[in-house]
Amino acid sequence: MSGITLTISLGGMPVDKMKQNDEGKTCPPATQDIDLNLENRKEAIDEYDYGPLNPGLDDSGQNDDFWMKIANEFNTNVEAALESRCANCAAFNITSDMQDCIAKGIGDDGSDPYDAIDAGDIGYCQFLKFKCASQRVCNAWVSGGPIDDESQSASEKDIL
Ligand code: SF4
Repeated sequence: MSGITLTISLGGMPVDKMKQNDEGKTCPPATQDIDLNLENRKEAIDEYDYGPLNPGLDDSGQNDDFWMKIANEFNTNVEAALESRCANCAAFNITSDMQDCIAKGIGDDGSDPYDAIDAGDIGYCQFLKFKCASQRVCNAWVSGGPIDDESQSASEKDIL
């Protein structure tokens, strides 16, 4: 017996494996499981140089070693490397659906999870499968992001 497999992608990015939660919504497992998220985040740091630890120190020069390393990996200069962030990476998913998933995973024990998302400027990395922050980067960065509601809608139109 033969069958057809349909793979849907967002702007060329394969949609992550989804896990159904209590409300019937599907979300990437790492958005719902903090241990899995931390495991994947550690791999992003160890294997893909995800950082810097505190992007707020960029202007002080304290992150220069980090950005020099990223610049070397991208074969460019520090000024260009500083323009490459999760925020404009093709793997950075900040769609409303994904923010709902992240909020659901954080929970609302007394505080609004969307405030935490906004404060950290958090999205979901489709490549490395963890919650990452817009002002960081890793050496798997690819231009063309982020994946947002607008690009998702355009992508869905492309395949219909
Ligand atoms: S692949 Fe892109 S979104 Fe994911 S951690 Fe690296 S720079 Fe950030």
